[in-house]
Amino acid sequence: MIVVLKQHAPAAQVKAFCQELEGMGFEINDSTGSDTHILGLIGDTKALSQSWLLANPVVDTCRRVSEPYKKANRKFHPDDTVVSVGGIKIGGGNFAVMAGPCSVECESQIVEVAQRVKAAGASILRGGAFKPRTSPYSFQGLRAEGLELMAKARAVTGQPLVTELMNNEHIPLFLDEQVDMIQIGARNMQNFELLKAVGRTNVPVLLKRGLSSTLEELVMSAEYIMAEGNPNVVLCERGIRTFETSMRNTLDLSAVPMLKKMTHLPVVIDPSHAAGIAFMVPSLAQAAVAVGADGLMIEVHNDPARAKSDGAQSLTPDQFDALMAVIRPELSFFGKTLN
Ligand code: PEP
Ligand code: MN
Repeated sequence: MIVVLKQHAPAAQVKAFCQELEGMGFEINDSTGSDTHILGLIGDTKALSQSWLLANPVVDTCRRVSEPYKKANRKFHPDDTVVSVGGIKIGGGNFAVMAGPCSVECESQIVEVAQRVKAAGASILRGGAFKPRTSPYSFQGLRAEGLELMAKARAVTGQPLVTELMNNEHIPLFLDEQVDMIQIGARNMQNFELLKAVGRTNVPVLLKRGLSSTLEELVMSAEYIMAEGNPNVVLCERGIRTFETSMRNTLDLSAVPMLKKMTHLPVVIDPSHAAGIAFMVPSLAQAAVAVGADGLMIEVHNDPARAKSDGAQSLTPDQFDALMAVIRPELSFFGKTLN
């Protein structure tokens, strides 16, 4: 951390400030020029708050020179992390497709979609039981019953399950292999108590990027989970808010190479929530593979026109078959293994 002191800061106050920092365990590299006075703080500054520094009357500006995330940082862990979800590997050259309906609606729907997406090559079944909806009057999900129906589909196809957790109180329903991967949705990316709670489990976590979150904020949320002891985090870019209104969101493809530089965690793309319109999903999925993503999350419904949520962006099983037929040769071109 570099701290620039104010010109003409009283020497006694500067001395007291330096003593306080030394008392906190930092070594200070003091550089005094003709009109600038800079302190270089040496030590682990991850817990040091910039706003605490800026609140000191002797401080003019400060700047971090190392990232505030450590466990997720590629600098300290150069190799790609491979996360295993019920035996399906994601990351380090392993590509996994998670597919299924936005919401679980009934047993026949989830079982039928699970069978179709599995046959097409999706190794992980997605489905929402607890749904984060913008309107309280919209379908809120089948909740605990939805989890039971997903488990029935898993018993039929053998696919591991990923489903969203919205509330700490529901965690017991997600443990003991009831689900194979916990999804933290975009709206909860900065629900820090929820992040800490899933960090205390050993269930792999799919962490979706918040609607208006920076990549550093996303990685810091992963750091929350990892700091509690759970290293199995997969990041998901699912579109962000921009000035563009012709699509639901704007897919930030540049997030993939940048996140891979910042962290060793696998990165997957959800083109369904990014586009919000089914016709765009296949091309965005192809782009995701080309840009180096480790997986895809795709919404598939057996009858999109009657879906209880996100029908407009859902592919039919036939459209999903076609998408997978294009993705397979692309994956082999890029040297990825479809798991
Ligand atoms: C979902 O996956 O159904 C979902 C609600 O996603 P997001 O949190 O990205 O909006
Ligand atoms: Mn959805």
